[in-house]
Amino acid sequence: MNITTVVKQACSKFGNDRGRLIDILWEVQNNLGCIDEQAMNAIAAEVKVHRVEIEGVVSFYSFFSEKRKGKIIIRLCDDVIDINAGIEQVATVFSEELGIGIGQTSADGNFSLEYTACIGMSDQAPAALVNNVVITNITPASAKEITRTLKDTLDPSKLVTKVGDGNNAHTLVSAMVRNNIRKQGEVLLADGIPADAGLGNALKKTSPEVIQEIADSGLRGRGGAGFPTGEKFKLAQRTEADQRYVICNADEGEPGTFKDRVLLTERPSLIFEGMTIAAYAIGSTSGIMYLRAEYAYLRPFLESVLENRRQAGLLGKDICGKKGFCFDIRIQMGAGAYICGEESALISSCEGLRGEPKNRPPFPVERGYLSKPTIVNNVETFCCVARILDRGSNWFAGIGTKASRGTKLLSVCGDCARPGVYEVPYGLEVAELLDMVGAEDPAIVQVGGASGEMVGRSSFGRKICFSDVATGGAVMIFNSHRNVLAIVDHFLKFFADESCGYCTPCRVGIVFLRERMQKVMHGFAESADLDYLRDLSKTIMMTSRCGLGSSAPKAILNSMDQFPLVYSSHLREAKDGVQAGFNIQKALDESRRIAKRTSMIYDPVYGEKNE
Ligand code: SF4
Repeated sequence: MNITTVVKQACSKFGNDRGRLIDILWEVQNNLGCIDEQAMNAIAAEVKVHRVEIEGVVSFYSFFSEKRKGKIIIRLCDDVIDINAGIEQVATVFSEELGIGIGQTSADGNFSLEYTACIGMSDQAPAALVNNVVITNITPASAKEITRTLKDTLDPSKLVTKVGDGNNAHTLVSAMVRNNIRKQGEVLLADGIPADAGLGNALKKTSPEVIQEIADSGLRGRGGAGFPTGEKFKLAQRTEADQRYVICNADEGEPGTFKDRVLLTERPSLIFEGMTIAAYAIGSTSGIMYLRAEYAYLRPFLESVLENRRQAGLLGKDICGKKGFCFDIRIQMGAGAYICGEESALISSCEGLRGEPKNRPPFPVERGYLSKPTIVNNVETFCCVARILDRGSNWFAGIGTKASRGTKLLSVCGDCARPGVYEVPYGLEVAELLDMVGAEDPAIVQVGGASGEMVGRSSFGRKICFSDVATGGAVMIFNSHRNVLAIVDHFLKFFADESCGYCTPCRVGIVFLRERMQKVMHGFAESADLDYLRDLSKTIMMTSRCGLGSSAPKAILNSMDQFPLVYSSHLREAKDGVQAGFNIQKALDESRRIAKRTSMIYDPVYGEKNE
């Protein structure tokens, strides 16, 4: 098929709706191998917008490409856990066997090799995506086997010789992924949870009664921010509108987080049940599950669960025989952008836009998806909603602590004997968790992923809960041989890569932080540099538009507080007030590159003009 035909078919499949642009782009890329200039022009004509808008969206998402890539794209996960587990050695083998470097495509057009951010497999690192097929626990030896199989068959599905446990073995999943459920709590991972008991109870109540039940339970959002769920429902329900939307955030991109992967695999019905209860509570007929591109391998299975629910009268018209209660859910694929985990950026993405956060207020509960009241909640939160309506608010409120009710799913990875998913009551001490998971000589625990909190040995008595160490679910363990400065530097690189670029403090400031951090790491820094790091970190946190910018410098501030000796041991003495090793032109280069600006200043140390 030629480009025009492919584009016309893709656009017409989604009603030539500009709001479904992400779906259209996926369709085009899957058929053409890229979204090139000609395809962008054709899409623009079909959905009636300027080509520049299409280009802006394509360039925003890391899984879209304007250039044709290999038939098989190998994306190696380069989060800090995978690096510690040996992904760089694995990358060397792939590179040698395929005869291409990172970021390159083989001459025969069969293979592309690249790094990608956390793919949600940190409990079985090093891991990679080969097109949509997940490969786990890769070693240099298995990397050779993998390339041999791919060269022989050009079929990534042939790499799965043994499927994982639970629904990973379902014919629609067929993944080598393992759930690694290490501790089943009583709320989400317990055996024998009755199907749709929560929905049945909800439909016996009025909408305000359902919201009150959730409010009484003390449930707070499980994605990290911890906003009271009942309050969110109440605000959306009270906003006058002819339509309201329920969105499930299944875009867990925080490095080291993978607990939603397990819920999507083992509790999909519970998630959709929770969304349906939410729809009943706020008065919505339409829901969206925003599924991260890295979990595309789960989509056929999730679609089948949705279809089964439609057939059983649990979605669609007059749900469970309740006259007038109509609701359905569609799955919206993401396309590789960490920032889309932020609720307003996620809404932008659902609307077919670049995944940039929106100004607030108005908040999504008043003006969200398509400017209608919208609740966006995490996968785990919707599961809790269903369980609360099943067992009652008192039962749920009786678990955990006064300010943090219920249980929390933790994705534990790094230097420990038993990485995996643990369902624990809120209030558990970090030290208790470390015992439970068989931590090996733990020195640093990063709770909440790259944007979370760094906890050193002296603070292992702190509790995991909203009022102490809050987390969306990631717990990364580092032993005493790990380099704290390298960990911080890695997080800064991650945030610099993932910044949407909208505001200057975040776009440029994080690059400056990393420049100065490298100066510390290489022993060129003086105490004034540490003051600079602190001051700039605080400025970025105060002036950034969204949570990415306001949390990116946290690792610097936490580590300076927790490990002051590490920093001071890397300092050199100032000579005559001159900061050796620092070059302002070089420090500015990266920000110029990002801002597409040039310098006309000749640099005597680093060479020619930066033009
Ligand atoms: Fe974008 Fe960063 Fe600003 Fe957030 S803080 S809007 S990610 S530039």
